[in-house]
Amino acid sequence: MILNGTELSNRIRSDIKKEVESLREGGVVPGLAVVLVGNDPASRIYVNRKKKACEETGIRFFEHTFEEDTAEDKLVSTIEELNRDEKVNGILVQLPLPEGFNQEKLLDRIDPLKDVDGLHPFNTGKLLSGAPVFLPCTPAGIMELMEANGISVAGKECVVVGRSNIVGKPAAVLLLLKNGTVTVCHSRTRNLEEVCRRADILVVAIGKPEFVNGSFVKEGACVIDVGINRLGDGKLAGDVKFEEVSRIASAITPVPGGVGPMTIAMLLKNTVKAAKIQKGLA
Ligand code: NDP
Repeated sequence: MILNGTELSNRIRSDIKKEVESLREGGVVPGLAVVLVGNDPASRIYVNRKKKACEETGIRFFEHTFEEDTAEDKLVSTIEELNRDEKVNGILVQLPLPEGFNQEKLLDRIDPLKDVDGLHPFNTGKLLSGAPVFLPCTPAGIMELMEANGISVAGKECVVVGRSNIVGKPAAVLLLLKNGTVTVCHSRTRNLEEVCRRADILVVAIGKPEFVNGSFVKEGACVIDVGINRLGDGKLAGDVKFEEVSRIASAITPVPGGVGPMTIAMLLKNTVKAAKIQKGLA
């Protein structure tokens, strides 16, 4: 089974569009502000996709772009202004920031109730305690994609490869909250292949093109490939060798068209949720 994130995200986006229309009728217009620093081409592409997705669903989009040599204080004051701006319900700092910026310090300044990326310590704490407010978008997208395709987690061996704050760690917590038995692997894990072969659900988020081949995968496993790697010829590759692994797995996400579109759909969902919370509607 190919887990088609494009198709599911289109359905979610059309539901969001309807919800935004009805909110607008009641005088509430959800708004998302994105802060982009520097000229990283991949970040520019991601911001453009978010902008297009907002415009298509009726969410207002505010872009704040800064040069790479901008003083950090300027970014802090922008975030504080956005915290106060009633038209802005969600704030997202596009990551990664150029070298030299203190990412944690900036994310910590976002109002937790506008933190639609779910990366503020308030939201990571709520997630760990099992009562999340805003889930980080990529792990939330993974869970929705599995659920929509009837893949249950309870009681299963789940192996997450990668332990970033954005993907690996929160994905592991979400799988645990769904009663999976979770192992988290990283660059210091011994016998990675062997550990991965135990997985009923294998989530790979390492940023190494086609690193995971058939020998990492148990017959019938569900494989979630989070990686987005741009190859020399401009094509995209995941962290998993799709052709080889798809013959062994029972379900697999393609790249592109798997987890990526789900991430954007979850961002829109979080933005609408933020607007509703701030207007006392949720
Ligand atoms: P990071 O670089 O922040 O983290 C990578 C993780 O992978 C680290 O924990 C690292 O271990 C681990 N790792 C690296 N090499 C190996 C290895 N050889 N064996 C085992 N573990 C390894 O990456 P992100 O989590 O931000 O992103 C991962 C991938 O997902 C990237 O390709 C990124 O582009 C993509 N991505 C896709 C999104 C989507 O919407 N589909 C959204 C966000 C990211 P250690 O901690 O020990 O260094």
